[in-house]
Amino acid sequence: MRKLSMALLAGVALVGCGGPEASETRIPSFEEFKASAINDEGNVYVVNGDEAVEGVEGLQAYYDNFVANGDVGATQDGLAVYYIGGDIKWSSTQKMNLTYCISSSSFGTRYSTMVSAMNSATAAWEATASVNFVHSTTYDSNCTASQAGVLFDVRMVSGQSYLARAFFPNSSRSARNVLVDSSSFGSISPWTLTGILRHELGHVLGFRHEHTRSSASGCYEDSQWRALTTTYDRSSVMHYPQCNGTQTGDLVLTTLDKQGARALYP
Ligand SMILES: [Zn+2]
Repeated sequence: MRKLSMALLAGVALVGCGGPEASETRIPSFEEFKASAINDEGNVYVVNGDEAVEGVEGLQAYYDNFVANGDVGATQDGLAVYYIGGDIKWSSTQKMNLTYCISSSSFGTRYSTMVSAMNSATAAWEATASVNFVHSTTYDSNCTASQAGVLFDVRMVSGQSYLARAFFPNSSRSARNVLVDSSSFGSISPWTLTGILRHELGHVLGFRHEHTRSSASGCYEDSQWRALTTTYDRSSVMHYPQCNGTQTGDLVLTTLDKQGARALYP
């Protein structure tokens, strides 16, 4: 989840999402695009605010597919799944065993708060779709990007431009991290840590940002998605409020989010 400016928190201005006239602006060179991308830990770049792309190769592919050809202007027709010739989602067996660890050393005194927030956020998705997250506490003391005992790791970072970032089901193990910036434990009202995690876990399940369904959101990203509901949902848990969204409270699953999640994981 991308951070909000203080002005935005007060409901005053939009920030950080390109702009409705983005399609008319000059297409940057790859070097310019790369310079503007966030180089996260190791070999991972973050695009669209909180989504991981693996390596310079992954960034180049993203650039070639969407930035270089000025791929903008989606149709306006809740939830959308990551789609590359097929849905990017977990298999019927894997979806019932989405294991994760929570790094006790990185969260420190915030560890128990993080455990509670993950329990609440995973429960929200489990209550509506046929998925099951499992906290493998055995690995919490060695919860790294190379921990093979879990599907993904949850760790705390500091000083990032995002509140948290996640990954999609087609990511390799080393990029399958939910990284939570320490600022997420501060004043982020009207959001909560649990709300931020509900959004990030949506990516983990394969859901794209809802605002990429609308060119009017000013935050169109690319066309690699398939609509799961016929109606575009400006209040979706996957819609950045700062992108002409209508959710003014915490990030919660809407009726359309639940419909979409059940459509992908019935
Ligand atoms: Zn996101």
